Amino acid sequence: MRKQVIAGNWKMNKTHTEAEDFAQTVKNDLPAAEQVESVICAPFPFLQKLVEVTKDTPLEIGAQNMHYEEKGAFTGEVSPVMLKELGVTYVVIGHSERREIFKETDEEVNKKVHAAFEHGLTPIVCVGETLEQREANKTMEHVEGQVKEALEGLNQQQASKVIIAYEPIWAIGTGRTASAEQANEVCTHIRKALQEKYNGDVAEAVRIQYGGSVKPANVDELLSQSDIDGALVGGASLEAASFLKLVEAGK
Ligand code: PEP
Repeated sequence: MRKQVIAGNWKMNKTHTEAEDFAQTVKNDLPAAEQVESVICAPFPFLQKLVEVTKDTPLEIGAQNMHYEEKGAFTGEVSPVMLKELGVTYVVIGHSERREIFKETDEEVNKKVHAAFEHGLTPIVCVGETLEQREANKTMEHVEGQVKEALEGLNQQQASKVIIAYEPIWAIGTGRTASAEQANEVCTHIRKALQEKYNGDVAEAVRIQYGGSVKPANVDELLSQSDIDGALVGGASLEAASFLKLVEAGK
């Protein structure tokens, strides 16, 4: 049985005080980590405080991006070494906003996934199609290609620890959710692709989240699907009560 993982992606939101208040509010009300993994992926300036506040609680802290190099002349970037040193345990890689706005390529995503493993961070790798690709019946081909390129060169042990977030771009921040069946169909396809690339054990071990306008009202149906093992949540993760409900649903 795969354990569900509910991850909030705050994007570029909240003040330092709001971030700390959130963590103080949720930290003692979350289910045990043995039941469901809960993660908040926060902006860089909040990470240290969040790790400190949530120490010895079930809440894990993740970053929303990182560079793949350990150090060097990369002005404005943050390295995996820096994240690890802070106590961060997860990192979102290849979010569609990074791919679209910051022109991140599959090759960079792959380098970041390798760097995450080299430094003991769990990557949450985002994949997903545009509306045009869905309407042109290119969803499976596109998503499978993104998964294979992101995981290229990983050994089986690493591959089985990757978390994949299937996020149809047309459903992110739009209030438009993929139906549970539509979401599951793509997640099942991803699992088959993992079986082909690796083997059945890896395919069965990998957690595949759905992301795209997940909220307390639709999370149960999404999480009840056979190949959906959690959610990556933007808007509905910003409010403590809502995040707690989402994590509860993952139990
Ligand atoms: C996201 O940020 O990855 C996301 C899915 O956002 P939202 O839940 O707001 O659609």
